[in-house]
Amino acid sequence: MTEFELIDRFFKAKAARLAQQRRDTGSTSPVRLGIGDDCALLQPDSGQQIAISTDMLVENRHFLPDVAPDALGHKALAVNLSDLAAMGAEPLGFTLALALPPERAADETWLDAFGDGLLKLATEHACPLVGGDTTAGPLNLCITVFGQVHPGQALRRDGARPGDEIWVSGTLGDARLALGVLRAEWSLPPGAFAAARARLERPAPRLALGLALRGIATSCLDVSDGLIGDLGHILDASGVGATLREVLLPQPAALAELPATEASLWGTAARRALLLAGGDDYELAFTAPPERHAAVLTAGAHTGVAVACIGRITAGSGLRVLDAAGDPVDIHALHSFDHFAN
Ligand code: ADP
Ligand code: MG
Repeated sequence: MTEFELIDRFFKAKAARLAQQRRDTGSTSPVRLGIGDDCALLQPDSGQQIAISTDMLVENRHFLPDVAPDALGHKALAVNLSDLAAMGAEPLGFTLALALPPERAADETWLDAFGDGLLKLATEHACPLVGGDTTAGPLNLCITVFGQVHPGQALRRDGARPGDEIWVSGTLGDARLALGVLRAEWSLPPGAFAAARARLERPAPRLALGLALRGIATSCLDVSDGLIGDLGHILDASGVGATLREVLLPQPAALAELPATEASLWGTAARRALLLAGGDDYELAFTAPPERHAAVLTAGAHTGVAVACIGRITAGSGLRVLDAAGDPVDIHALHSFDHFAN
């Protein structure tokens, strides 16, 4: 199979087939020219800004070699769509740069499943594959997503103000729970592991919530490296501090499914590490003025995503986490995931 046959068969034709099945929205596609020419041509809506983000996934660092190919395809796009969600941007399309070792390039079952995972998510969020590059090499995936957002409406990191409430979507720590099982750091009963693994391998980008938060949230980002580390980016960019209340953090959904005997194995310190420093959840962390509390709840309800108010932005700098008794938690021992610190 040549490079062109591979692209045509597993990406171009598959994408066209999936798009055909979903030609129901009636909206016009922003793609004026897709795969096959030297460049793709995208037409954003009049007056909108283009939001661009790139994420690279490298074997053994971002995924394990035996990950299911459809999960890999899903996650590679999901982490990029999550960046658009965090910006309050609407997807326009994406490109895929792919390095494939010869044994993968010859494995049609693998390519087919990878293309399915990737392109089903793309179709679901109306984010078509418009181009890319394909080469031989160690397995490596790089996706660039393009989105659009009205000028002044993007959810940036630098808009948090003292007094704002701090929110997080969904639950925290599930992805880290699953990773720990895969790395044999701990074990979970099969049902809880399956739930956690789905969060690790098939994260749901919170695009609808991100769009619903435009005009409400003062700052936003997606939690990829752990809550305290990522929230720190908002605090730095906005020049503010924050106080979080540990009891308000949304507990990992997988732990809620455990029988009491198993759940008791997860003490305060272990849960704290999962909630505050577990990475890969791809939830949105954002701030909004207290007057907009009800509007945030409505945005969550309308988009079917739980939202939890977990603390407040303060004047000054630094992040404090208070435990149930109101005493400060030592968060210095907890580190977010830093690729160069490991
Ligand atoms: P170029 O010579 O300009 O690099 P290529 O021969 O690499 O072009 O690619 C031919 C066409 O196929 C281009 O439109 C490119 O965007 C597209 N393409 C290449 N690889 C991929 C891929 N992995 N996914 C989607 N489109 C791809
Ligand atoms: Mg090329």
